Amino acid sequence: MSGTNIEVIEVKRRITTVVAAVALGAAGALMAADSLPLQAVNKANEVIDAAIEAHGGAEALAGLKTYVRESDFKNYAVGQSLKPGKPWDENISQNFAAIDLENEIFVARNSGETGGFTFNTATIINGEESFQLNYRGQTVAPIAQPDYNTNAGPTVRVTPALLMKQLMDRRHTSHWLGEVEAEGARYDVVTLVMEVGPALSMYFNQDNHRLEKMERVLPPFGQVEYAFLDYEMVDGIALSKRFKLYVNGDVNLVIDDIKQQVNVPIEPYLEVPANLAMIPAAPPNDFGSNEIDEGVFLIGGNGAYGLFVEMDDHVVAIGGTQGVAQRIAELRTHIPDKPIRYGVLTHHHSDHIPGTADYAAEGVTVITFRENEEVVRAAAGANEVELQFVEEHLTLEAGDRRIELYNIGPTPHVENMLIAYLPEEGIIFEADHFPQPPNGPMPPAVPATIGFAAALNKLDLDYDRIVGAHSPRVGSPADLNAMLTHPMASSAGSR
Ligand SMILES: [Zn+2]
Repeated sequence: MSGTNIEVIEVKRRITTVVAAVALGAAGALMAADSLPLQAVNKANEVIDAAIEAHGGAEALAGLKTYVRESDFKNYAVGQSLKPGKPWDENISQNFAAIDLENEIFVARNSGETGGFTFNTATIINGEESFQLNYRGQTVAPIAQPDYNTNAGPTVRVTPALLMKQLMDRRHTSHWLGEVEAEGARYDVVTLVMEVGPALSMYFNQDNHRLEKMERVLPPFGQVEYAFLDYEMVDGIALSKRFKLYVNGDVNLVIDDIKQQVNVPIEPYLEVPANLAMIPAAPPNDFGSNEIDEGVFLIGGNGAYGLFVEMDDHVVAIGGTQGVAQRIAELRTHIPDKPIRYGVLTHHHSDHIPGTADYAAEGVTVITFRENEEVVRAAAGANEVELQFVEEHLTLEAGDRRIELYNIGPTPHVENMLIAYLPEEGIIFEADHFPQPPNGPMPPAVPATIGFAAALNKLDLDYDRIVGAHSPRVGSPADLNAMLTHPMASSAGSR
């Protein structure tokens, strides 16, 4: 479901000339006796000082207390499209964000439609008055452990002035990496370590000292690049009006017109509409395992789960989200000695294939669609992976245990989608079509859910439990029905 992409393994760097700090001629400006780290710190400070001036000056940046932005995002569904390769599907979504930097208050609202999902949600991070709002489901839940840094991070990372404030506050963490030439301009590259997430490499134009590019590496997905374009001055602060984000060299997100204000009150955005029904807070999403039937384990945490089914002399693993190695380690505490013979991938999306590398390392045969061969082999990384292809249906049978794999595609989410069905136990495992929350009432069906329900009807499966790749919860046919009959259920049908 994430917007990142693993498919393109080779990093298509448009930035070609990297001059290593050591070899740089500018070393003349530095004391010959200076150690490399000292040079990196001193030069970073020079670059940061010039950049502060270029973004409005220390006083204006220090005086920046609140920031509000609104924009349409054009999103290219890199690694998240209906089909595994290019061209990527495109969609438009709307984003609003407001930050009170001094009081660590953050508000975001996102709406749109992508990959068979319709969404209209908001997050309010405001100490004990923190809430998760769902306008489609017409619910609001308190947030038990509001995390300002994690929630505000994505907005900070796309806003040069907010990054400059971070850089001012955390400049002691910064190093100068070197000089780079890109698209006819020369840049100094300085690192920034934020409170959460991997370090950022910030590219300051040597002529105007503005932040024009940024990069960070997010294993296993690859490199994310940010481009800040068309600066404008808003109340003495330099802000970019256009923005682009690239994943492994492919454009992933484009914003053509950011409407932004500084130092305006954000209180109006902290109010929770009275028509939303209060539901319980989401429970902590810790890693763990749940034996949902004899020898059938749902293992995972933090929004990523896999199903492990014990057969007579082996185990079948279903699901390919990140963290398969950790899940296998947990499985070993229950089933220490049976080898995993098959690893089943539900579909080709970038967040559902990283487990391939772990399966390959274990010598597990990976079951997927022929159409996914390229992305799945790429996801395996250096390891050679044995693939077995499935078209419409495959039965895995051993002893008394039977697992039926069905292709329920095409759905509004993806062209080919495997679900696993355990007929004896009445269990279905799915990904991305039955978005059951960890607790609370079922949300209204999205087009993907409607497609999923139609496919189950057509297959005429007898089941009483549904588990999924993104939820610790064990759902029921009644839960699916609750989504479908919700008054706000999507009217859009399946493809
Ligand atoms: Zn998906």
